[in-house]
Amino acid sequence: MQVLAQARDGQPRHDWTPEQARALFEVPFNDLIFAAQTVHRKHFDANEVQVSTLLSIKTGACPEDCAYCPQSARYDTGLEKEKLMDVDLVLAQARAAKEKGATRFCMGAAYRSPTDKHLDRIIEMIRGVRGLGMETCATLGMVTQEQAERMAEAGLDYYNHNIDTSEEFYGDIITTRSFQDRLETLDNVRQAGLNVCCGGIIGMGEETGHRADMLRSLANLDTHPESVPINQLVQVKGTPLDGEEPVHPVEFVRTIAVARLMMPASHVRLSAGRTDMSEETQALCFLAGANSIFYGEKLLTTDNPEADRDRALFARLGIRPEAVERVEERRDCGSGCGCATETAGNETDHAASA
Ligand code: SF4
Repeated sequence: MQVLAQARDGQPRHDWTPEQARALFEVPFNDLIFAAQTVHRKHFDANEVQVSTLLSIKTGACPEDCAYCPQSARYDTGLEKEKLMDVDLVLAQARAAKEKGATRFCMGAAYRSPTDKHLDRIIEMIRGVRGLGMETCATLGMVTQEQAERMAEAGLDYYNHNIDTSEEFYGDIITTRSFQDRLETLDNVRQAGLNVCCGGIIGMGEETGHRADMLRSLANLDTHPESVPINQLVQVKGTPLDGEEPVHPVEFVRTIAVARLMMPASHVRLSAGRTDMSEETQALCFLAGANSIFYGEKLLTTDNPEADRDRALFARLGIRPEAVERVEERRDCGSGCGCATETAGNETDHAASA
């Protein structure tokens, strides 16, 4: 198949047609995985996975209506709301995450967009986490370019803002902001010089063509997102998407592989939904080119069984967490060319789907 042969050269491109993206989903599974792993090895160490920890710094009471999200104030999910956390508490969690091997600390807050007053406190958090030598990431909903610049100056490395799904299917999932709003925030973040973390969710009732279109929207951006989270819907009682037909593991792995082929030099993040996946499915995701995970999403200072399970899985597969030196490599370049990620190399928009 011509499109597979082209994709296998592993060169980042930004001119995918709808037909090409959809054709990749039709490739026989073994051919697809082989191509994705081949491309993966051109840009990354195949046995290295970047490890991030996500902390919800402000939980629930969000005015948006994202149909998958328990943090929306519109759905009765029994979620306990929490105000924006104190800086000291966040830094204590970041320190604990670092001790457990995380190199990136992501702070998620359930906002339509943050107020400048809240942003002042979040900026203190960013400075503090950066001071620990970790990479910093935030997901706070829509931000202006000015807000993005303030965060960049404070030392933010990544901003997460997912497009969630295809432009066509988007209105079935969210009505309180548009697909275009999402793209505008992504542009603001990019203009501020931040790395972009942007992906979507699989298993919301979308068709395969919608998955292809979502990946095409990301791959045809002027610069590929440095990090592409692919989430599997976590069904939560009380949200409109509770009861959706679960996505078949093979289809999920296929989506990871296509993301790897379409954005060959980006970190593809195996995100929400891992707790519902078998170890075999996760292993297939790594084979298909996933090379980033969230580790112990609710990491506390006490032992974290999920993190322990991940460590055991890594040991079984011979996978190493991406070295801290990589963080420094990414920072060293500083020319804005993106070379460290282009060559070396939640969620939710917020905590629910990152
Ligand atoms: S995904 Fe984000 S914006 Fe949407 S309801 Fe949840 S917290 Fe709010």
